[in-house]
Amino acid sequence: MFPDCHVHSSFSFDCEEPLASYVDRSAGLLLTTEHLELANSVNGGRDDVPDFARIARQMDRIRQEEADPGLKSVVGAEVGYSREHPNQLEDLLGGEAIDLRLLSFHSYRGHDWIEVEAHQNISDHDYAAAYFDLVLEGLQTLGGQVDVLTHLDYPFRYRPSLRGQAVFDEFAGPIGLIIDACAERGLVVELNTKSMYKYGDESFYALLLGMVAAKSGQGAPIAVCLGSDCHRASDWRAGFSRAEGLAAAHGLKPLDLDGLISRLGR
Ligand SMILES: [Zn+2]
Ligand SMILES: [Zn+2]
Repeated sequence: MFPDCHVHSSFSFDCEEPLASYVDRSAGLLLTTEHLELANSVNGGRDDVPDFARIARQMDRIRQEEADPGLKSVVGAEVGYSREHPNQLEDLLGGEAIDLRLLSFHSYRGHDWIEVEAHQNISDHDYAAAYFDLVLEGLQTLGGQVDVLTHLDYPFRYRPSLRGQAVFDEFAGPIGLIIDACAERGLVVELNTKSMYKYGDESFYALLLGMVAAKSGQGAPIAVCLGSDCHRASDWRAGFSRAEGLAAAHGLKPLDLDGLISRLGR
């Protein structure tokens, strides 16, 4: 059973699902990863900084209600890198209440990639090049303080002309540097099943897995994990068996619960 390492509850600005919906009784785990996004352009420019200590307290209460003292709780943050606020992010990441840190790159030049009109005048080449530059910069700045690189294909969800093969044909070099940066810092690379099966870009992740497997075979092992990126309990763990099969086809096994727990709280 592989833990879902990317889960949103009502502590995220864009989600209404109660925390208690995500008690994984078979694994004995309650894990969420809530949006920590500064100057969030898709939420009126607000700083979205969840109260992680409150999440921890609510998880304790759920553990008592479940009468399961062995239930492990993991308080996670999905941190949106901000080129404009690296020092503030570094301080927030140091917060003791956060156990698991995912690093995302939702925003470029003050606008989320989902705001298609804000980026429509950028050519495909410049769009992807700017994004991969941003990711490499974020890994160099904050990579030592986070655990997981999440949805590396994120902007391509909103640019249908940039699907897996087209991106790798032109940008295998920068993607390789990004994977090397993850290996150097011990970061886990996420297989985002929302990107793979809701946005339909499994091919990006098949190519990414091929690269991770090749680099792991050269002596720099890189772990992968599964994340559904769900905002509703009905999407929790969606597509996991298919993604697990794709990883296995490349000789890779996603992070299991023990592997995850051993990486927390660094
Ligand atoms: Zn995200
Ligand atoms: Zn997310």
